[in-house]
Parts: sequence; structure tokens; C-alpha cells
Amino acid sequence: MKYVIIGSGVIGSAIARELVSRKIGDVLVLDKESLPAQHTSGRNSGVIHSGLNQKPGSLKARLCLQGSSMLRRYCRENGVPIEECGTILVANDNDERRRLRELESSAVACGVPGVRIISKDELKEREPFARGLEGLFSPTGAIVASSKLVYALMRDAEYNGAAYQFDTEVTRIGEKEIDTSKGKICFDFLINCGGLHADNLAHTAGLGRGYSVIPFRGDYREVEAKVNGMIYHVPDLRFPFLGVHLTKTVDQKVIAGPTATLSLAGREGYARGFKSRFFLETANSLGFWMWAARTLSSGSQLRQVVHNLKISRDEEAFLADVAQIYTGEVQLKDNYRSGIRPQIVNRGGRLVEDFLIDRSDCQLHILNAVSPGFTASLAFAKYVVDNYATR
Ligand SMILES: Cc1cc2nc3c(=O)[nH]c(=O)nc-3n(C[C@H](O)[C@H](O)[C@H](O)COP(=O)(O)OP(=O)(O)OC[C@H]3O[C@@H](n4cnc5c(N)ncnc54)[C@H](O)[C@@H]3O)c2cc1C
Repeated sequence: MKYVIIGSGVIGSAIARELVSRKIGDVLVLDKESLPAQHTSGRNSGVIHSGLNQKPGSLKARLCLQGSSMLRRYCRENGVPIEECGTILVANDNDERRRLRELESSAVACGVPGVRIISKDELKEREPFARGLEGLFSPTGAIVASSKLVYALMRDAEYNGAAYQFDTEVTRIGEKEIDTSKGKICFDFLINCGGLHADNLAHTAGLGRGYSVIPFRGDYREVEAKVNGMIYHVPDLRFPFLGVHLTKTVDQKVIAGPTATLSLAGREGYARGFKSRFFLETANSLGFWMWAARTLSSGSQLRQVVHNLKISRDEEAFLADVAQIYTGEVQLKDNYRSGIRPQIVNRGGRLVEDFLIDRSDCQLHILNAVSPGFTASLAFAKYVVDNYATR
């Protein structure tokens, strides 16, 4: 059995590692870049989420919970830098305190271990500069060096027999073979883990129809601030992204972000700006226009979009956002990194919240590997191989 995997990010590499560990066939991983982790997997917050804000019963909730403990153990056992510092969400008024309690209940329903409301005093003990009347503490949240994890998974997969071929762009997927920039390659089973391009790749195979990616950009700034772990504002679950948070990195920096704005320079437009050719790719889908129409007709969503635009353009507004979770002085340093979320939208303009898989007999297309895809990666790989990729 010859497995071909498109994409050497955390999802592709975790699946490659899982497949070779079962000794059920040859595994070839292809990537258009020269190195792994050049896109989403190397450009995220590096947070191993505990599962706090997941919808009970969703695939994401299940795989985030399983993946969190698998990934923390994997990092400990394989020398991948990790800090198991726990996650804190803060609330600043009674409405936010109510939301903290709702999150606590849904986290308990999802099985997240040890999650509990903490008083203002305990909040101050844990994070002296956190702003909040109280907090929600989740002890299993952790921070990891994301690129190093992808490298570790790749080395593991290679050690057990997987082959990686870089600088090879897949341009079309046929029934049993693919066209690449280096010629045709045959497969018995194909797994598309193309991240930001997974939808376009699936469409060439006649799958994933009705779904397309809207690229949402997230910028991080390095900041001068005193943070022991992670501080988040209690999220508003009507909106898809978590909002700006403060995170200590494993190399002892503190970063603030990510912002959340439409990427006007396309799916890999990490430098700011507008690139018409790439933006047209986004605009060339019904889902995008339906999403835009929905957003414009909803007061709360429109306000959220405007707020996100403002904090991504204006340093004062960005600092004001940070001040909602932090009482100390914050100095903005350099841009730290930018990542782009491959958020899938359906034809009706609804952002798909859960992981999404489309398949045929001998192909599997991983669509919508959005956050917490990094956290879920090892559990996701096991789920995929158990349920779809072994015959
Ligand atoms: C700003 C941001 C913050 C996030 N924070 C977190 C977090 O803290 N915790 C968490 O759990 N998750 C987080 N996520 C989500 C997480 O990063 C993703 O779920 C995960 O990295 C997805 O991995 P992937 O392998 O699917 O994609 P990628 O890492 O993008 O990998 C896809 C690979 O496919 C390759 N490829 C694409 N097209 C082709 C082609 N045609 N031919 C060959 N190769 C191709 C690309 O070069 C790339 O290497 C965040 C995401 C973003 C954007």
C-alpha cells in the first residue's frame, strides 16, 4: 500500500508518523516548500489548548482533549520545549463572570480536567498583572515551540520509514495519481493535508465542493510585560476567534495577539498589503460573498470586524485591547510573527466551526484544520488512521 500525504505541517507529519508506526505501507510526504512548518503550523500561538472553549460533542472538543494530553506527553518524552503553565481567562464585569461560568460548565461537560473559577486573590497570585474580577483556570493548558514539534514529528516519521520530498508542489489530484511540479506520482491512498490550499486541492479531485477557504490573518507583537503563562480575555463564543491574548513563549518572550482580519494579500500574504491576484482567489467563491453579506447585516459581527481592523492597524487600539487583560505597563516591541487561518466557509456563508473531512474510496481531504488543530494533531492522526486510512 502506498500512502501519499500532501503537506508536511503538523497534521501531515502527525498522520505520517501514525501510519508508519503501524507498518501498513509506504508513506511519502510531499510539500511545496523547502522545509516543514513554513505555514500555519509554524506561525501559531504555540498553545496546547486544554479544551476550554470547545462545543461539547464536537469532533474538535473530543480530539482537543485527547490531543492535549497526548501532545504534552509527547513533548516531555521527546525533548520538545514545553511549559505546562496552565491557562487563565479573565472576566471584568458581571456579564463576563457569567460567561466564565458558562465556559466552566461546558469545559466540565467536555471532560477538561481540573478547570475551576479562581478568586481575584488567586488570580493575582498566579498572574500579578492580570486584570480581572476573577478568572477561570485550566491547569492543563501548555505552551510549546511549535516548529520544533513539527520537526520532531517529521524525524520520528522518517526514522520509522516515511520519506519526505520537499520543493514539490501538487497541482492536480486524479483518481490514482497526482500531478506535481516534479512529475506524476502514483498512490494507493492519498491524504490531503494542504492547510491553506486544502480546499483547492480537493476541488481538483472533485471533492470538497461547496467549501472554500477564507484566509484570516493573525498578527503577533512581541511585548515587554510580566506574564507567567497565558492570559486570555473570556471569549465571546458568537465569534470564531479567541481574541488577543498574552502568552509567554518557551524562549521566555511575551507575545500579544493574534489579531483577526481578512488577509487582503491572499493565503500566504504574510507581509501586509493588498495583492489583487491573491485577493481575487478569495473573492472568487460564493461562500465569501455570502459571508460578507451576513457580516454586514449583523450589527454585532460588523462591530467585531471593525474592532479587529482597528486593533490590527492602530497601536493605541491594540494596547487598549491588551489593557483589558493586563494592568501593568506594556511596551510594544517588534512584530513577532503573522499566521493565516485557513477558515472554511460553506456556500451559505457560514464559517465551519468543526474539523471537516471529505473523502472517496482512496482519498481523504482534511479541510478546516483550524485551531486547535495543532493541539489535536496526534489524536487527529490516530482518529484518521483508525477510521479512514486502513483497509
Ligand atoms: C494565528 C494562528 C494561531 C493559532 N494558534 C493555535 C494554537 O495556539 N493552538 C492550536 O492548537 N492551534 C492553533 N492554530 C491552528 C493550528 O496552527 C493549525 O490547526 C495547524 O497548524 C494546521 O496544520 P496543517 O498541517 O493542516 O497546516 P500547515 O501547517 O499550513 O501545513 C500545510 C502544508 O501543506 C503544504 N502545501 C499546501 N499546498 C500544497 C501543494 N499544492 N503541494 C504541496 N504542498 C502543499 C504547505 O506548504 C504546508 O507545509 C492557530 C492558527 C493560526 C493561523
